[in-house]
Amino acid sequence: MTTLSAFRKFTEDLTPQDYTMPVLFIGHGSPMNGIEDNEFSQRWKKMAQEIPVPKAVLVVSAHWFTRGTKITAMDFPQTIHDFGGFPRELFAVQYPAPGNAALAQETAELVKTAQVELDHDWGLDHGTWTIIRHMYPAANVPVLQLSIDYTKGPQYHYELAKELTALRKKGVLIVGSGNMVHNLRMVSWEMINGGGYDWTHTINEKFKDLIQNRDHQPLIHYQTLGKEALLAIPTVEHYLPLLYTLGLQGKDEETSFFNDKMAGGSLTMTSVKIGA
Ligand code: ZN
Repeated sequence: MTTLSAFRKFTEDLTPQDYTMPVLFIGHGSPMNGIEDNEFSQRWKKMAQEIPVPKAVLVVSAHWFTRGTKITAMDFPQTIHDFGGFPRELFAVQYPAPGNAALAQETAELVKTAQVELDHDWGLDHGTWTIIRHMYPAANVPVLQLSIDYTKGPQYHYELAKELTALRKKGVLIVGSGNMVHNLRMVSWEMINGGGYDWTHTINEKFKDLIQNRDHQPLIHYQTLGKEALLAIPTVEHYLPLLYTLGLQGKDEETSFFNDKMAGGSLTMTSVKIGA
């Protein structure tokens, strides 16, 4: 099938739905969640059962941080094991979901503020597959990734997200995958199975209040939220996927939280669902 005919086919399939797909932010945490049957992975599985089956999934992963914005456009994205020091079992995982070149093209055309490059080299990194394989274990839903341009600031990413809105009416599930609180230097092995520092609790509640109240500006300018925010976000890559999710919130859409737990003291798994 040529790219052009594939494009026609997918756009025909993506006729407007009578529903708008929800948008998710998912705290992915340890790569081990990719093979563990635990409270987090069980909730991901349940979430997939609660929402309409998407025609495709588009993930903005903390682990694809690039100069410029790219979208995976290959028919068969590889499973990327972008971590070290984990059991062989984790490296053996393959998640053979197809890509969709037509949707990649269509998404690139939707985005006007950035020149989105069609990518044929990346694939599905662990920010994507460790979650999505629990949600769609049959690997029969196309999965694409959109990269995060590391040369741009938070406001830019928040605005760029809005340009993806049309995809939600075409059955595409957009997922931001990161961790709102992600300070690996302060991970405490004593709290590896739960619990957090005082500052982790404080900022987790603060983030949730702002999200619940749809008060996005302080979240975009997180540096103004005090020392807890700076401890939570020593580097931005795990935080920016949240701004993609929030940027996609429609006018009267509700917000709910799930996996509102801490891991290792200085990480939160707190996740957000926007829309019904
Ligand atoms: Zn990560």
